[in-house]
Amino acid sequence: MENLADVRDSVRRLCAAFPGSYWQALDRESAYPTEFVKALSDAGFLSALIPEEFGGAGLGLRAAGAILEEVHHAGANGGACHAQMYIMGTLLRHGNPEQKARYLPGIASGELRLQAFGVTEPTSGTDTSSIATFARREGDDYVVTGQKIWTSRAEHSDLMLLLARTTAREHVRKRTDGLSVFILDMRDAKGDGLTIRPIRTMMNHATTEVFFDAVRIPANNLIGEEGKGFRYILSGMNAERLLIAAECIGDARWFIDKATAYARERVVFGRPIGQNQGIQFPIARAYAQMRGAELMVGRGLDLYEAGEECGAEANMAKMLAAEASFGFASEYDVERKFRETRLYQVAPISTNLILSYLAEHVLGLPRSY
Ligand SMILES: Cc1cc2nc3c(=O)[nH]c(=O)nc-3n(C[C@H](O)[C@H](O)[C@H](O)COP(=O)(O)OP(=O)(O)OC[C@H]3O[C@@H](n4cnc5c(N)ncnc54)[C@H](O)[C@@H]3O)c2cc1C
Repeated sequence: MENLADVRDSVRRLCAAFPGSYWQALDRESAYPTEFVKALSDAGFLSALIPEEFGGAGLGLRAAGAILEEVHHAGANGGACHAQMYIMGTLLRHGNPEQKARYLPGIASGELRLQAFGVTEPTSGTDTSSIATFARREGDDYVVTGQKIWTSRAEHSDLMLLLARTTAREHVRKRTDGLSVFILDMRDAKGDGLTIRPIRTMMNHATTEVFFDAVRIPANNLIGEEGKGFRYILSGMNAERLLIAAECIGDARWFIDKATAYARERVVFGRPIGQNQGIQFPIARAYAQMRGAELMVGRGLDLYEAGEECGAEANMAKMLAAEASFGFASEYDVERKFRETRLYQVAPISTNLILSYLAEHVLGLPRSY
């Protein structure tokens, strides 16, 4: 899998077995693409970022981005499983050797799913430091009480990366202190304090709300140091933004391919509609926007892979790529893709918050919130 052209080609071949009709049927039933996710796992694509010593492919972020871009370019939906690729990054970077040995090989083989990320709560929304879910130390366990919302894929995951308060906000110096990250084994916790309820959304995204009623997590499932969790979560966000941006580039390519093919083939007034500039120009504009966004994604990936600061580029890439991927008739999948890609105006970070980031950290304007 060293050559990205080979990686892209294998992803395309795999996705060809999952055509529009497969996704349309799931979409009608709001069902999870179990077979697709299994095929991607079995082919090793979802373990791209896991080092070889733990059974993964040991590839970099650029390769992971290429995989997700091709999944979306093929009309498939990586949102069903993309988090299996990158959530483990927090464990990889900040977990201890015992935790990595315990979980990473199973995640790499696909036997264990770590694709639920419990951060957002109903009352805190974008303001992560205001989360209220609390993990209280009791002997060898932490006891968790609270609620998460928009916890995607929780019903299709064995483990959850959970962010909870371990010290009350009024007792910490900085509001981002006192938050801790845990690996929660949901197989043990379901029926023992953990309740998961699906939320229906305009796109088929398997998202849920999760309730914690004195859920016990063994203390050795705390990642890194207690109270430093916010920093650990932040360290994975640039990677997440760049990967989602790559998906949006794939969506944009898919829309442009579909639009171009239809404009060539549909004949009205004795000529293809694509011969009219009124039809050509919006498609050409979409293409230019996609290529511009792609350059920014590439720049972000270069900086990330060189170990350099890439916050501004990752944010700009995610914003530009989400804006470049747009799309109505259900039978052509365009309407489904339009709904699916709309999500990325909001998650994992909204466009407003990206603009705030650029204003504050790049343009030096005062923080607005
Ligand atoms: C389908 C879906 C799946 C998701 N999956 C997950 C997941 O798996 N795990 C997880 O933890 N989270 C997930 N999220 C949460 C997502 O990443 C956002 O963080 C979350 O939706 C934001 O909170 P909110 O919707 O309550 O919006 P709010 O925080 O209430 O914001 C509402 C609006 O106000 C704007 N706004 C807020 N503050 C500011 C400000 N300071 N400046 C300018 N504008 C501002 C926002 O941009 C937004 O437009 C998901 C969300 C959705 C919709």
